Amino acid sequence: SKTVSGSSYQFYHLAMDIRTFENVKFENALYKALDHGELELYFQPQIDYSTRSIIGTEALLRWNHSTEGLISPDRFIALAEETGLIVPIGEWVIRSACNQIKKWQEKGYPPIVVSVNLSARQFEQNNLFQTVKGILDEVGVSPELLCLEITENQIIKNTELTIQTMKELQAIGINMSIDDFGTGYSSLGYLKNLPINALKIDKSFIQELKSNDDNSAIANTIITLAKNLDLDLVAEGVETLEQAEFLASRECYIMQGYYFNVPLKVNEFESTYLATKGE
Ligand code: C2E
Ligand code: CA
Ligand code: CA
Ligand code: CA
Repeated sequence: SKTVSGSSYQFYHLAMDIRTFENVKFENALYKALDHGELELYFQPQIDYSTRSIIGTEALLRWNHSTEGLISPDRFIALAEETGLIVPIGEWVIRSACNQIKKWQEKGYPPIVVSVNLSARQFEQNNLFQTVKGILDEVGVSPELLCLEITENQIIKNTELTIQTMKELQAIGINMSIDDFGTGYSSLGYLKNLPINALKIDKSFIQELKSNDDNSAIANTIITLAKNLDLDLVAEGVETLEQAEFLASRECYIMQGYYFNVPLKVNEFESTYLATKGE
């Protein structure tokens, strides 16, 4: 048994080395992804269920890797955050989203709000406000058409600087939204003092909703909370008619999820949701 544990120990170390090597390769590839134009935004519609019309879209990052194909953000955002690459990548995301808003405007489509995800790391640089404002001015986009999403846990993790920056962003008209709401630990008192316009109910709570009489305590609580604090509410991860009907019965009308559509390439998003209403 000594031999067995000895060799498995060795194997473990070899495996670690390979993983590290793979990580370094992946990291280098991510560095180049930005310059090589391998990053792309996909767009998922946000629907007002009471009118069945589109009111916004969330821009979601994808990496078209040269050999591995399309890579989802769950596989590279954490690495981008660790390495600090999230700062230039995040700036690219904001700029691309604003360029897209501008293009849609020039085509005469009805305006929709575009939501973009931000990492806590982006708030740690002290010029995030200037960066965002600079992009809006340069591209010529109204701040009201941009929504910035940050998760509850990322806000809590950060400090004064994050909240101060959120205040500045909100003050010029940008919509600020808390993502994955309900998964963190923010208290009502804490929430009341945050510069935010909207909450997004985390999809885990939506997916618990199987039918109207199911255990829906958390979703109900968040819906009530948003009403009391006068915040907009978006339900994400809506996959079934039952979930949509449950939410509508509680007057939560803004929805996003596979029931309506998956995140789409820009051309497909445009032809499905914007082009037909543009004339
Ligand atoms: P998120 O911000 O919570 O985005 C929603 C995720 O849920 C997206 O995954 C979306 O494709 C997925 N989704 C939408 N509808 C449904 C549904 O009905 N059912 C289920 N099961 N999933 C649904 P995606 O695109 O893989 O993104 C994963 C996460 O990566 C995002 O979660 C966000 O935290 C992060 N992310 C994406 N783009 C960016 C970005 O540009 N910057 C940063 N910092 N993070 C990003
Ligand atoms: Ca989000
Ligand atoms: Ca979310
Ligand atoms: Ca998430």
